Amino acid sequence: MNVVTRQKSVKPLSPQIDLFSPVQYLKGVGPKRAALLRTVGIVSIEDLLYYIPRRYLDRRLLAPISHIKVNTEATVVGQVETFGFTEGRRPRFVVILNDGTGMLQCVWFQGAHFVQKAFHVGDTVVVSGPVRFYRGKQMTHPEFEILSNSHGGDLLHTGRIIPLYPSTAELKARYLDSRGFRRIIKPALDRFLKLVPETLPESIRERCHLLPLCEAVRGIHFPETMDGAEKARQRLDFDELFYLELMLARRKRKWTEAQDGIAFKKVGEKVRELLDLLSFELTEAQKRVVKEIWSDMKSKRSMNRLLQGDVGSGKTVVALIAILIAVENGYQAALMAPTEILAEQHYLTVRHVLKDLGVTVILLVGSMRKSSRQKALEAIGKGEAEVIIGTHALIQEDVAIGRLGLVIIDEQHRFGVQQRAILREKGLQPDVLVMTATPIPRTLALTVYGDLDVSVIDEMPPGRKEVKTVWKSDQHRDEIYSFLRDQVRNGGQVYIVYPLVEESEKIDLKAAKESYEHLRSEIFFDLRMALIHGQMGSEAKDRVMALFKAGGIDILVSTTVIEVGVDVPNATVMIIEHAERFGLSQLHQLRGRVGRGPRQSYCILLARYPISEEAKQRLRAIRGSTDGFKIAEADLKLRGPGEFFGTRQHGMPELKIANMITDASLLSAARREAFSTVEQDPELKASENTIIRRTFETKYKGKFELVDVG
Ligand code: ADP
Ligand code: MG
Repeated sequence: MNVVTRQKSVKPLSPQIDLFSPVQYLKGVGPKRAALLRTVGIVSIEDLLYYIPRRYLDRRLLAPISHIKVNTEATVVGQVETFGFTEGRRPRFVVILNDGTGMLQCVWFQGAHFVQKAFHVGDTVVVSGPVRFYRGKQMTHPEFEILSNSHGGDLLHTGRIIPLYPSTAELKARYLDSRGFRRIIKPALDRFLKLVPETLPESIRERCHLLPLCEAVRGIHFPETMDGAEKARQRLDFDELFYLELMLARRKRKWTEAQDGIAFKKVGEKVRELLDLLSFELTEAQKRVVKEIWSDMKSKRSMNRLLQGDVGSGKTVVALIAILIAVENGYQAALMAPTEILAEQHYLTVRHVLKDLGVTVILLVGSMRKSSRQKALEAIGKGEAEVIIGTHALIQEDVAIGRLGLVIIDEQHRFGVQQRAILREKGLQPDVLVMTATPIPRTLALTVYGDLDVSVIDEMPPGRKEVKTVWKSDQHRDEIYSFLRDQVRNGGQVYIVYPLVEESEKIDLKAAKESYEHLRSEIFFDLRMALIHGQMGSEAKDRVMALFKAGGIDILVSTTVIEVGVDVPNATVMIIEHAERFGLSQLHQLRGRVGRGPRQSYCILLARYPISEEAKQRLRAIRGSTDGFKIAEADLKLRGPGEFFGTRQHGMPELKIANMITDASLLSAARREAFSTVEQDPELKASENTIIRRTFETKYKGKFELVDVG
């Protein structure tokens, strides 16, 4: 088999068709279907073989209609006896199924238009859902699949477990529903499965109890047992995870091998002075993390460390210590934030502390006037600026930081791996510390940051009270306003936050401004209020924030500019308007702005209807927990790893089926095997690793190209 044949102009029916030929060359797939399949990522025949069922229907678990019980979940196969619309108090679309033992009504109150087109009298269909009793056995809005109809029968006879494939409305319109997929996948498997090359050496397969690839590919589509389907899935998952980890292992090795980093020599006086300045002791977790960082910094290999810690766990002071170490060894340090606003906030905090220690801090952001920018660049070039704070534009533009010794990147999840790589290419091999306030579930941290060492601050500063979170609808405004008044009377301060969604920035800003005006003139006319938003100049913003921090403002209305980094321990209430529009980790970040002092704090989620089911789940999750790890896990479940990280920017390839949340043990096995392979044979030259090298190069390298820039 010629593995690299990928040309598109081979004639249909050519005997040359192989795994990599366009899917269009299959019987039953013409150009139109091929174009549609492309929309779900299927281009080649191989892609089709890797199109994974979303679930299976185990016919042995089917119950006859006469046997199903009310108030249980059931799956039933029957023939469509009749269907139609029923008028009444609530108009509905009803399908009556008959399986020879009894009748079942299936009812749709919504989406009837779509459903209606799916059914024909005489079709064999499978439905699943909870069974209720309403003039007979009934399912409301069941999940359904047409198993056979006038367009032809199905492959039911081939097995007792039927794969159900994901599909879309467009695909379904061309009969590429589950059944349609089964009908093209089955013959494709029969013909091409033998061409699927094994991708893992036997030794690994044996150690990890994995199926041969061919068996797994067949088993994922047409398993004999549900256990067989699970085994198949594990094998396919393992492949993706293994090759991802292999790439990470190789990169990590490359970076650790290179002994060309900076060995910082001393921890100087200024670190001590900083600790004296603080009004608190470092927590044990902070101390441990500082030690880990210091041990990296003093060694000749470059630091590549991720600092993880929930909102409010005290990462800033750790960063400051690292910065001071760099500065006192005669190097410059850069702190990068994902947005200008955050960079400005960091600038304020850092400068505030470091100026007392005689350290020069400079801000460099895109929006600066040309002359001040010029001045900043000069100071940086000459080495006068010891600490440079900016956005990641810092490293992309041609900013020459001559003695760059340390780079701290805040909010890593928004940064690509590429940025880290760009840095290393520029000049000195600085030590890199990435800080993330969004805690990453452990399993994912291993994968995504597999090439980094990880430090975790897993302890909150003492004396914090858990923030109380409530979810209210708009109708409770009056009640909430009087609560705010009480809080202010007792000396607390309040944030009211409006969402700022990029596409509708102007409209949202208008909403924030209007309600600010309304509150100021109608409701809280006797209190001190201010508005802050992203379009204000940075000096104006600084002034407002400084005043709020000094206690000169009772209620601060803002757009999400305060998302990260603001530290006002006296603030006790966070109202989040349109909470349904925020992402889960954003809500968590926002809530982290209160509960920073000894007082009891509150977070009020104000949501406006209608709210999508997903938004409801987000609000429930945030109300139910203040633990950033739990929230991140929920977020990951809701959005999937790709979305969670913004795959493209992040450089993590979209993993087709690997479900890393449930598969922690599979992930560790894949990681262990990959790292030990690279350990023993870094270049993959040994004959037993040929299969790995070949697979990596032909199948995964392109996919990981974005990632593999180190
Ligand atoms: P993070 O950046 O991790 O969200 P910060 O560094 O902003 O958290 O710290 C949150 C708050 O806790 C700040 O007010 C900070 O001064 C305070 N803080 C940090 N470390 C301690 C500590 N060990 N004891 C008491 N307060 C602390
Ligand atoms: Mg911070």
